[in-house]
Amino acid sequence: MTNNLIYGPVPSRRLGFSLGVDLVPYKVCSYNCIYCQIGPTPETTNMRKPYISSKEILSQLYKRIEEGIKPDYITLGGSGEPTLNSEISDIIKGIKSYTDIPVTVLTNGSLLMNETVRQDLCGADVVLPSFDACDERSFLKINRPHSSIDFEKMAHGLIEFRKIYPGKIWLEIFIVKGINDTESMMRKFKQWTDQFAPDKIHLNTAVRPTAEINVHTVSEDRLKNFCEILGKKAEVIAPFKKEAKNKKMIDTGTEILNMLGRRPCTLTDISAGLGLHPHEILKYVAPMITNQHIEVLHINGKMFYRKKGKG
Ligand code: SF4
Repeated sequence: MTNNLIYGPVPSRRLGFSLGVDLVPYKVCSYNCIYCQIGPTPETTNMRKPYISSKEILSQLYKRIEEGIKPDYITLGGSGEPTLNSEISDIIKGIKSYTDIPVTVLTNGSLLMNETVRQDLCGADVVLPSFDACDERSFLKINRPHSSIDFEKMAHGLIEFRKIYPGKIWLEIFIVKGINDTESMMRKFKQWTDQFAPDKIHLNTAVRPTAEINVHTVSEDRLKNFCEILGKKAEVIAPFKKEAKNKKMIDTGTEILNMLGRRPCTLTDISAGLGLHPHEILKYVAPMITNQHIEVLHINGKMFYRKKGKG
């Protein structure tokens, strides 16, 4: 029995209040993105299998829904690449037969080159694929994919998916200063995105700590300028507005600060210590960094958080 497969609802800039579902164990992923917020991928993989069974996932999810929560979306994603779970189609069907809460899939898009994966996602209401590179060179620099995945195949998977998928596609482009942030690259992106015909294009940048140190934020004005090149479907992901601080949030924030006051911790340390999913922890630590209450250290390839003024 795997614990904590369901997390949240957590506030999401793109999905309102989203109930998250983990389909794979921590960092089972086909990419090792330099901007990953949950840390480096120890070993990339393209192997699909039932890492966690649909039966187990659905049983935990049904229990959570029975508690009466009303998220805006149920999001299949979590701590790795959800399409690596070969039972994703059964999971989507199982959710749709149980509730009318819309189902979204947060994917890096790399496995859409596989026809079975494209078919598997057809039951979801919204699919949110990443597309961070406009050529092989920037693909290798940003996403650092498994050796079986090349840029052209990945991009053509998205084109094929659009042809058969009846739901909404909200594409995300993560912009990293110095790698994919020129106007000429945006024009290359547009040649691809015109072929994917997404319903929305979300531009994101490093507003939270990332797996690698040298991942720099691009200014909002520059992102707006890129949106103009990409066309009217493109938008900068606006900061989340519904987020409200309640007593539970304040108490949890205090517990995290107390923990980090004792010693620097990784995201997984905090997650294990408080019994909360890494994505939930991120909602607390991001504003603490902005407000200068904690800082990020990169030591031996790992990312640690430390309370400011300690050491
Ligand atoms: S950002 Fe997503 S796709 Fe990239 S390494 Fe992290 S979990 Fe994998």
